[in-house]
Amino acid sequence: MTLRKPLCRFGSHRVLAPEGALPQGAHRLDATPVAYENEILCDVELLNVDSASFAQLRGACADDPKRIAETILATVRERGKQHNPVTGSGGMFVGRVRDIGSAIAARIALKRGDRIASLVSLTLTPLALDAVLGVDLATARLRVRGTAILFESSAWARLPEDIDDAVALAVFDVAGAPAQVRRLCNPGESVVIIGADGKSGILACAQAKERAGARGRVVGVVPDAATPGSHLLRDARLVDVLVEADACNALPLARAVEEAAPGGADLVVNCVNVPGTEASSILCTRDGGCIYFFSMATSFTAAALGAEGLGKDVTMIVGNGFAPRHAEIALETLRSHPAILKYYTATYGRPS
Ligand code: NAP
Repeated sequence: MTLRKPLCRFGSHRVLAPEGALPQGAHRLDATPVAYENEILCDVELLNVDSASFAQLRGACADDPKRIAETILATVRERGKQHNPVTGSGGMFVGRVRDIGSAIAARIALKRGDRIASLVSLTLTPLALDAVLGVDLATARLRVRGTAILFESSAWARLPEDIDDAVALAVFDVAGAPAQVRRLCNPGESVVIIGADGKSGILACAQAKERAGARGRVVGVVPDAATPGSHLLRDARLVDVLVEADACNALPLARAVEEAAPGGADLVVNCVNVPGTEASSILCTRDGGCIYFFSMATSFTAAALGAEGLGKDVTMIVGNGFAPRHAEIALETLRSHPAILKYYTATYGRPS
């Protein structure tokens, strides 16, 4: 069924409070599972909660999957979307198209029954959950029964045939990182990736290595150099140097990175999932260099005042999760690095 109502391509017609807001900034959305004429209604199977949000939920719920499920159900019931009130971040979903509004049906290359992943945040996606069927602590993924709405402006991607759905979802969640690194990194540059052994960090390292080339230098920073992700970074030569340091402890980290990138890096990419790492990023960037804060745990205030206080003339970029062709670039990064694909399939793939 398609309903009729004054419609906004950005979905403001779904906002219940405050009136007139856009969905991302709104407190509450109407998640009624009926497609307006410029919307796509999906049956949702999987949620991928973003890492900063999931880390917060794990802490607040003492790693109890049942409490995490209850907290997410309560948020979605109250807000009509999975918008973590503490971290302000969301995630993405995988689902099957149930209905397409009449105004867009002829324009988009989708039909009922197609399986897709959303490429817009759950913080702006009207979501109704009937049940959480499982919470996977290791991958921040939830099996659910529910529905979601995509707007005319919402990006989505068809699930690839050659890559496990769960792996594709994991990679789509962080697709902005490799795409932005591809844009920001130039041949011959030094690049520091903080949180290098995580989901976005590994893809960012792969892109940095490719872009910086033989004359460049990629330094990965990890809290523990013995993790499987750290082994992958070394074994697949995705970094030139791996530094073990705590990004919440800026001075020791900066000293450790100074040895690997004397004078500071041209580009620093922050891919961590915990707060309090702005100063580390600033200190290991050269004057005139650039920091890309992909982390959702970044504080604008801490970054802005931190750079001022440290007297560092650096360009700081907010981690826009969208970049042209970002989903394709993320999948290409997997396909062109068999070692990463193997690792992601083992780590994020759906158990058979
Ligand atoms: P992830 O797989 O959990 O990776 C986080 C990384 O941070 C891990 O390598 C972790 O190391 C490392 N880390 C944690 N504490 C650290 C510390 N004190 N010092 C150094 N490294 C530390 O997360 P992800 O999925 O890649 O996401 C990374 C960040 O991007 C999160 O904040 C997430 O919310 C955000 N994000 C942003 C966007 C966007 O559009 N901008 C989209 C999606 C996600 P260990 O695993 O060894 O602890």
